[in-house]
Amino acid sequence: MKTEHIDIPAGSTGAVLQLTAFRFGKAGARPSVYIQAALHADEIPGMICAAHLRDELAAREVAGEISGEVILVPVANPIGLSQDVLGNPIGRFDLADGGNFNRGFPSFSTALAEAVRGRLGLDVGENVTLVRMALGRLLTECPAATSAEHLKKALVGLAMPCDLVLDLHCDAEAAMHLYTHSASAMTFAPLAARLGCKAFLVAENSGGDPFDEAVSRPWFELSTQFPDVPIPFACQSTTVELRGQGDVCDEMARADAEAILGFLQDVGALTGKKSPLPASLCNPTPLSASLPLIAPVCGILTYRRDVGTRVVESEKLAEITDPLTGQRTEILSPCAGMFFARTALRFVKPGRRIGKVAGVTPARSGYLLSP
Ligand SMILES: [Zn+2]
Repeated sequence: MKTEHIDIPAGSTGAVLQLTAFRFGKAGARPSVYIQAALHADEIPGMICAAHLRDELAAREVAGEISGEVILVPVANPIGLSQDVLGNPIGRFDLADGGNFNRGFPSFSTALAEAVRGRLGLDVGENVTLVRMALGRLLTECPAATSAEHLKKALVGLAMPCDLVLDLHCDAEAAMHLYTHSASAMTFAPLAARLGCKAFLVAENSGGDPFDEAVSRPWFELSTQFPDVPIPFACQSTTVELRGQGDVCDEMARADAEAILGFLQDVGALTGKKSPLPASLCNPTPLSASLPLIAPVCGILTYRRDVGTRVVESEKLAEITDPLTGQRTEILSPCAGMFFARTALRFVKPGRRIGKVAGVTPARSGYLLSP
């Protein structure tokens, strides 16, 4: 295990934050898999899963079982992890400017097409090398001023040269689920099965430029722009939501780490005895068919259904009670599907998103992610 530290300017004189990456296997070996946790810094299920992964990967490296390369960043957001307001951790948004730490990553597709135009040939390997070098140059030239911009640049720099990228998050209260590019559904189906995902959400472009799309979309979009030359989908990524923020325990984290290690074996990054692939619990569905529940009124939120429940359209999922009048407002499911996530709040205001149901019929467009 090699340890690498990357300094992140903390935005004030004398202050520096540090990103730590652990590298397992031989540098440059393929497939290379990048795994990071807690980009939203107060999402701890990924962090504890990464702690188990670190121990397991170190043991497997000693046993000679790492055939590719694995790069692990257990704490992807030291900026967010240092944020605290009156005792409450704030890990999703940058207190400096309100920016969501997992939105607004650099989007290289247009500049990449210009950088490689007329230089791509019929050799797949040469094209991959050319595109990786062009992406590396674009990232180097990408301006960064704020701490969050430096952090984003450093994370993309670690992940972009890899074949596969896993970004470990969690929701407020949720069943296991993941997000990926529509063209990566097959690639990550074994991971979804091993983790026991109840929802598997796919999109070509979620509209928010999250981390996972910064490294994957340039490849897919380049291949659609230049259909006459072979350009593989050479960096595929997924955002894995390891249930809810309170789901932090060693038993679950150990099982999640085992599932990820099994996937690393599936893709050939690890050798050793492989556990059988379990049956998947869900099929991929469009992210544009995942519908939010919106609170129409202010009041006390009580749920009628647990996360991970399959529901029918108009099924009652929750109620909001006005504490002064006692009036109750029913919250009905906007579609049939998997009720996979809900808020941790129990007093809500009008317009607040209070849950998500993964349906099958696309019903939204544009910006598809949560704020
Ligand atoms: Zn997150």
